[in-house]
Amino acid sequence: MRGIGVYLHLPFCRRRCAYCDFNAWQDPGEGVRRAYHGALLADLRQQASDPAPRVGSIFFGGGTPSLAPPSWISELLEVCREVFEVVPGVEITLEANPGTLDPGNLERLREAGVNRLSFGVQALEDRLLARIGRIHSAREALDALEQARRAGFENLSLDLIYGLPGQTPADWQATLDRALEAQPQHLSAYALSLEEGTPLEASVRRGELCLPDQDAVADMESLLRRTMRGRGFRQYEISNWSLPGRECRHNMVYWANREYLGLGCGAVSYLSGWRTRRLETPEQYVQALRQGRSPLFEAERLGTESALKETLILALRTRWGADLARVARRFAVPQGRLEEAFDGLPEALVRRSASRVRLTSRGRDLANEVFLGLLGTPLTLPPPGEQALPSGPSPQAPIS
Ligand code: SF4
Repeated sequence: MRGIGVYLHLPFCRRRCAYCDFNAWQDPGEGVRRAYHGALLADLRQQASDPAPRVGSIFFGGGTPSLAPPSWISELLEVCREVFEVVPGVEITLEANPGTLDPGNLERLREAGVNRLSFGVQALEDRLLARIGRIHSAREALDALEQARRAGFENLSLDLIYGLPGQTPADWQATLDRALEAQPQHLSAYALSLEEGTPLEASVRRGELCLPDQDAVADMESLLRRTMRGRGFRQYEISNWSLPGRECRHNMVYWANREYLGLGCGAVSYLSGWRTRRLETPEQYVQALRQGRSPLFEAERLGTESALKETLILALRTRWGADLARVARRFAVPQGRLEEAFDGLPEALVRRSASRVRLTSRGRDLANEVFLGLLGTPLTLPPPGEQALPSGPSPQAPIS
């Protein structure tokens, strides 16, 4: 039994990046950060149950979790070990922003049990980093990786973004080469998504910044594939590459649509067939826990068809694809009904062998179209009483 994934959201950042629309907040100062830490501990303690849930991965995401003192991370992990049955060899990841950690902090995080660091590097040209509002230089990012390695971290991941304003394919190639010289085990590469309401989107809309055209972005994607494959990395998910055996175990929980518990403001959980979300802002979240109220904001019981389609879509994002026989068993539906859902999709986009369906490389490029096609295909499922969606009691009543 692999256990559920636990996600802890640490939402504060030193400064907001120009492209960011995550649930992240400018650092409100020590007092509020301390109150939030207290709320997170209280939320965690409320998860105690008998038997204790088995946990196979713990992920500190943000925001900038590396802004939190290592002693707070250590305290959160101690409570995790009290409340959950943490499996031996658990993966414990912390997202880090270069420029927020020093060798002493890295050492303390490793001693606390963190065994994987995921650095938000995004680019390795100073002019591009400044344009998107990052707080660090390229040199600081590379130094942070080197310091992490010296502190004993053997599982390092980098996040990069391509298609940045003013970025050329040659810039992207230089970023990839420098990033790989740092010898990470894992790399996430995302095409820039311009989110409405962000300063970057406003600058592009006003014509102050110019994005690379579609051909240049397509060139960056081929450079990414060629470079990563040439260095022994496998594209195990649309945006994620790893050396063999270094896939992110926590994210694999999401892509397998298995159960996870999200703690902290805005965090989402998927347990016993229920998807729940916690209150969005740090203030709402802290206040609810201080007053002994539920931090849940909304709860949705997933129907079989939507849970099943989500499972298929998430699996298709990975290199293993979806095993229709397995999915059919999990949801107690006839395998033929799942196969029918793929009948309308061209062979250029999906490849079928035995009961497994995978995206082709063209299918990965057009993944959103494939997913929309699947979502729009009605599945003729057996009556609800004959389906085996995991079921559990209603979670604590959400606050309306
Ligand atoms: S560090 Fe990450 S979470 Fe924080 S503002 Fe930048 S992109 Fe957003």
